[in-house]
Amino acid sequence: MPATTSGSLPPPATLTDAQLRGAACVWGGGRLDTSAAMDLGVQPDQRYPDARWYPRACPACAAARS
Ligand SMILES: [Zn+2]
Repeated sequence: MPATTSGSLPPPATLTDAQLRGAACVWGGGRLDTSAAMDLGVQPDQRYPDARWYPRACPACAAARS
C-alpha cells in the first residue's frame, strides 16, 4: 500500500520531469531502480484541474520520512 501523506511531498512546481514521472527520487532527485523504488501514490497537481503526478522515492529517503 502506498505510504504517503501528500503534505510531506515537495510541491510539483519545484520538481524535475523525471521526479514527476517517478523516474527519480521525489526528495533526493537520484535516479531510481524500479525494483527498489517506493511508490508514493498518484498525486493531484494543484496547478492543473486534471493533472496527476507520480512520486516515487528511494528507500533511504522513504525511510527517513516514515
Ligand atoms: Zn531519495
